[in-house]
Amino acid sequence: MTLLALDERGLSCAVGDFHIDPWQPVARAVITHAHGDHARWGSDQYLCSREGEGVLRTRLGAGANIQAVDWGEPVTINGIRVSLHPAGHILGAAQIRVEHRGEVWVVSGDYKTTPDVTCSPFELVRCHTFITESTFGLPIYQWAPESAVFEEIRSWWTSNRERGRASVLFAYALGKAQRLLAGFADADIGPIYTHGAVERLNRDYRAAGIRIAQTTYAGGMPRGHSFAGSLIVAPPSAAGSTWMRRFGEFSTGFASGWMRVRGIRRRRAVDRGFALSDHVDWPSLLSAVDATGAERVWVTHGIREPLVRLLSERGVEARAIASRWKGEEDLEPVEIAGEEIEA
Ligand SMILES: [Zn+2]
Ligand SMILES: [Zn+2]
Repeated sequence: MTLLALDERGLSCAVGDFHIDPWQPVARAVITHAHGDHARWGSDQYLCSREGEGVLRTRLGAGANIQAVDWGEPVTINGIRVSLHPAGHILGAAQIRVEHRGEVWVVSGDYKTTPDVTCSPFELVRCHTFITESTFGLPIYQWAPESAVFEEIRSWWTSNRERGRASVLFAYALGKAQRLLAGFADADIGPIYTHGAVERLNRDYRAAGIRIAQTTYAGGMPRGHSFAGSLIVAPPSAAGSTWMRRFGEFSTGFASGWMRVRGIRRRRAVDRGFALSDHVDWPSLLSAVDATGAERVWVTHGIREPLVRLLSERGVEARAIASRWKGEEDLEPVEIAGEEIEA
């Protein structure tokens, strides 16, 4: 039996009697990050990074039993040494390092290796077995520098403002929205209004010391207020809802890695797509996997087969494992439509 294995509740460590990002309630859950497909309600105990504690509590509720640890601080769970290391994905996102009798496994969670001022930078952790996400595991997925994407958004907003229109920018409420707002902190864009789901998490980011642009909760504005020329940041679930009526004439944009694909942009029916992702692109995925030195790689969460094939050709013991990434922030837009609407 391997140190970590999939059971009906998700990825489990039988010897240590804990799960990592379990799909169903368990006694002890080690959580990579607070996105819905990784942090689920109902477990007795949660372990997460200190950096991610605030957003995890917002997501799980005040009653959740959460223990937070510093980066790299080892915790022993039933004889298994566990430590958390930054994944560079969103605030507090961790890779989980699990060590037993000299054997080291690392579970990446979601990650990116490019800089992002809203979270600690990705740390390379050497291991024997690496369980990697592969959300964008195809060569077509290659990201432009974020500064170029921010500039695109800025010029879209500028032209909307000149036409007297509001700009409604859809972005996942946890992580992507705050990364955009951090990018606008010094840009001459605004006023910026937010949907409640975004604003609530903005509070957690600010409390964690992350500098983001000044924002105003759109729902707090009086009836008849003009939003012309402003930027509104809202979760994708708000698209087409009655919540949008207050903005008068507006243009819509969507910031997601999936916007790299024209067909998806069209299906999503937004005016503009901005390819900004919090996951590694294909070249970064390959170099990150390679740098771990892992002789065994399990691929989960996304487009898995091309990576498995490529690693196998290189002599790495690779296989795809099941995941449940429904409800994910960067999901293919058809699936995003089913995402819950937060007030
Ligand atoms: Zn995520
Ligand atoms: Zn995910």
